[in-house]
Amino acid sequence: MNRQKPPKGIEWTRIRQADGTELPGYTWNPTGGCFHGCTWRMPDGSITECYAKTIAERFTSGYPHGFEHHYWRPHALDAPKKVKQAAGIFVGSMADLFGHWVPEEQIRQVLDVMEQAHWHTFQTLSKFPIRLPQFNPFPKNVWVGVSLPAGHLMSATGGARALNAYLRHMKEVKATVRFMSIEPLWFDVAPVFEEWLKQEGELPFEWAIIGAASNGSRVFQPKTEWTLSLLELLENRDVPVFFKGNMDRGIWTNWREEFPIISNGLHH
Ligand code: SF4
Repeated sequence: MNRQKPPKGIEWTRIRQADGTELPGYTWNPTGGCFHGCTWRMPDGSITECYAKTIAERFTSGYPHGFEHHYWRPHALDAPKKVKQAAGIFVGSMADLFGHWVPEEQIRQVLDVMEQAHWHTFQTLSKFPIRLPQFNPFPKNVWVGVSLPAGHLMSATGGARALNAYLRHMKEVKATVRFMSIEPLWFDVAPVFEEWLKQEGELPFEWAIIGAASNGSRVFQPKTEWTLSLLELLENRDVPVFFKGNMDRGIWTNWREEFPIISNGLHH
């Protein structure tokens, strides 16, 4: 487990609790590698690929078969149990734990560890939400997240369709907290949520992370009107919002680093 400060961009794993104290944040990768091949087209026309892939290709000793390969690291399974102080732990910063290529037995082993290490709060993030409901109900200390579909080969219409499908799967998830990582905010997502609300009445997530797009050191802010309409919609539904560090503090003077209020029941 990585007990350094969480990598830049994963600040949201340092969870602030109701009493104002902040948990230390770690990343944990009992699996590695990913086949989703996400890429994004930047507003300047350049294409950027997944940050984890870039890192894996730099540190090849941990990824000898490249990033598009499944690595199972059973020796890492016990790591959270060795950390006695409660922490926020992002599971799979270099993987998609729920990717279609990951054997179910391995996912269940990882979930078992999360349940056993009940003093921690684990956060997972997937781009394959169709698989999530089969692991219901998730342990109470696990927050289950889905990221906005990636958008290089997709039009905004395709992105909206994919997002709607993601929401349908999220609706079936039974977890203490379900969350959406809307990063980068590369198309106007508020109308998709509005349409969903008209039909379903409530959003299938209790926390949202919003971020800008970046390609190396270049950062591209989402259109202000997209962010504003999304914030308004989430505010009206009492969904707390966490801004990633690449959002522009000059524009967003009302900076948001909110966390969900934890209730005892599971959302579904
Ligand atoms: S799902 Fe995540 S880890 Fe996998 S390629 Fe996409 S951004 Fe990278």
